[in-house]
Amino acid sequence: MKRKTIIAANWKMNGNLALVKEMSQQLNALQISDNVEVIVCPSFPYLSSLSDSITHGQLYLGAQNANEHDKGAYTGEVSTDMLKELSVKYVVLGHSERRALYKETSTLVAHKVKTVLEAGLTPILCIGESEIERVSEQTETVLASQLQPVLDELGIEAFEKIIVAYEPVWAIGTGKTASPEMAQATHHFIRAFLAQVNESVAAKVPLLYGGSVNASNSNELFAQADIDGGLIGGASLKVDEFITICSTAKGLN
Ligand code: PEP
Repeated sequence: MKRKTIIAANWKMNGNLALVKEMSQQLNALQISDNVEVIVCPSFPYLSSLSDSITHGQLYLGAQNANEHDKGAYTGEVSTDMLKELSVKYVVLGHSERRALYKETSTLVAHKVKTVLEAGLTPILCIGESEIERVSEQTETVLASQLQPVLDELGIEAFEKIIVAYEPVWAIGTGKTASPEMAQATHHFIRAFLAQVNESVAAKVPLLYGGSVNASNSNELFAQADIDGGLIGGASLKVDEFITICSTAKGLN
């Protein structure tokens, strides 16, 4: 099954207009392998300038969150319609920082996935286990419990339009990366879990790995059979490093 390689930058609450300018200039000039897509997800205030600066046909804009409601009295929140006006195509949902710091449950994340899909945007659904869950061999149970509410609310068909990002919490921003073999085994589990419901949908779902991906480890990770690219935090803020990751990624899955 031929799938695209997707490289998504999650700037988190970092970056500024200077980074928007430099990153977009460098990315616009980049030779990117066919079948590779690059998505940049800055904080909301920078979406507009990034949207104006992107000219490369394989470069897309993503948001780091969206509200589950269409509009209304939700001070401080951002709707999918607002994102669409800025040419956003992807929305990161259920990032472990939002689950841990803002108490987003898997049920809420499933509601957000529904809202984002109904708006015609593509969710990047983040799932992942903590260190203690990995050590106590709970990884598969945790991942299943994060996927199941989306299956319950939207059915397997929704996964035709969802990107899943597997991000072990213990590897995010820590410099600890899952080995390519460990990441591949977990990605294989995720695909097999979805395949129990529908094999052909599962075979097509893009599965990204996230957790301390950098220019030195990206190619080995992305070469694994069930890894279709990465969600990249820290390394996506360093223009040279992110450019190396994008320019050396091959769309060969
Ligand atoms: C992330 O925040 O999604 C992430 C993977 O961060 P980092 O690459 O810094 O570990």
